[in-house]
Amino acid sequence: MTDFKDNPYFQLFSKQKMHQYEIAQRTYSQRVKRLNALQRAIEMTYRAQIQDALYKDLGKPKVESELSEIYQIVGDIKFAKAYLHKWMRKQKVKTPLSMLGASSYYIYEPKGVCLIISPWNFPFNLTFGPLVSAIASGNTVIIKPSEMTPHSSALMSKIVADVFTEDEVALVEGEVEVSTQLLKLPFNHIFFTGSPNVGKIVMSAAAKHLTSVTLELGGKSPTIIDKTANIEKAAKKIIWGKYLNAGQICVAPDYVLIDESIKTEFIEACKKLMKYFYSENPKSSKSYARIVTNKHFERLSNHIKNAESLNATIEVGGQRDSDSKYIAPTIVSNLKDEASLLQDEIFGPILPIVTYNTLDDAIEYINAKERPLALYVYSKSKANTKKVIQNTRAGGTCINNNVIHYANHNLPFGGTNNSGIGKSHGLFGFQAFSNKRAVVKQHTFGVTEFLFPPYTELKEKLARLTIKWF
Ligand code: NAD
Repeated sequence: MTDFKDNPYFQLFSKQKMHQYEIAQRTYSQRVKRLNALQRAIEMTYRAQIQDALYKDLGKPKVESELSEIYQIVGDIKFAKAYLHKWMRKQKVKTPLSMLGASSYYIYEPKGVCLIISPWNFPFNLTFGPLVSAIASGNTVIIKPSEMTPHSSALMSKIVADVFTEDEVALVEGEVEVSTQLLKLPFNHIFFTGSPNVGKIVMSAAAKHLTSVTLELGGKSPTIIDKTANIEKAAKKIIWGKYLNAGQICVAPDYVLIDESIKTEFIEACKKLMKYFYSENPKSSKSYARIVTNKHFERLSNHIKNAESLNATIEVGGQRDSDSKYIAPTIVSNLKDEASLLQDEIFGPILPIVTYNTLDDAIEYINAKERPLALYVYSKSKANTKKVIQNTRAGGTCINNNVIHYANHNLPFGGTNNSGIGKSHGLFGFQAFSNKRAVVKQHTFGVTEFLFPPYTELKEKLARLTIKWF
């Protein structure tokens, strides 16, 4: 540990390291007390301030703050409180006959000192969500939120200091350099939410200490619409899922893959709904958020410019205003493969439409890219839906809907390969922050003792019988 003496966070880390076994031994009701304190802070004391911070950082409408931030965290807490007693119990398992005289179980023990690094798009939800799992499983935690949403990060720092002591949960604000320093420390687990590129940096830092990781990453999440789909209904869900938080959602439909024959009908349905959701002038709509920073505004503007330079069709939208970091809800079609909109994760309010002739073509198109965090399919055909699911891989899927799988705490949430490693939410989040410790208790004389040295011919026969019969 002397290697870390110059690390600015070593003292904080050491404090938590010393305190970890005390925290780990908290009973169910003591853990619930901590969760209740966090719930009170989010749901009551700081609710209005959370909405205010989100409005300042992202222009987030109140209803979206309520549903996608406060409701999610409170839901996480309620779910953990309802099941924690069960999760904390010894999990008994069978013991084979060859181990007669012993019983077996495993326990979920806290990993220890954990690091949570979070992104900016749902700053409260994606910081406090994993924190709920970490506290429920009895860990100490250092949090590093995103520097892109300074109002939210400052408020989270205040909430954490109000609810927890520093040796239990601490929040450190700052830019990349802060993460870099924290990542040098030998944490027992790192829970990272962010981009695949930074995920790789986190994983290589973790490898130095063989620290376990949960990586909640992103990428391009495709949406297939086949010709049996209900186009009106599909358009309604996609427009909601794509333009919520101005498209800055890891599970937003990144692009649509649609049967060529229904493309025009689908785009017309989308245009109608966009007008209905956000009016003729989305810029003045109170239901539409803003882009987080100038850098991201530029990144998204460049996508549109690139599409235009390749003669793509801007079906709707395209307008932008750098002063207010506004980008209109936009749909683009007739894109060439090399268009940046079809290469990079968009993470903004631009929806490319790509057409296909056969479902096999659509599957091939998806499988040629990195494995997505989410894959959506709109279809009335069971056979088509089954075919898509069986022939692709993704972190999660909705059939005839999008985004909502995130909100079911009974489901594991996370990606696969490039879109993530490990799962979160509910039991899966509790497991991510726990070590499953196997315990075998010997009650009486164990039959295996017959096979201890010195080895004889009889013992050799007994070993063979054991293989054959037990
Ligand atoms: P990001 O990877 O740029 O940043 C995430 C966090 O990592 C921030 O706290 C940031 O300070 C830190 N960071 C940035 N560069 C770093 C570096 N070089 N070394 C160490 N730490 C560093 O991601 P973002 O822009 O905040 O969020 C957008 C990405 O996150 C998208 O790819 C999106 O799909 C993904 N995302 C995934 C989920 C999920 O649950 N799977 C949720 C939200 C966002």
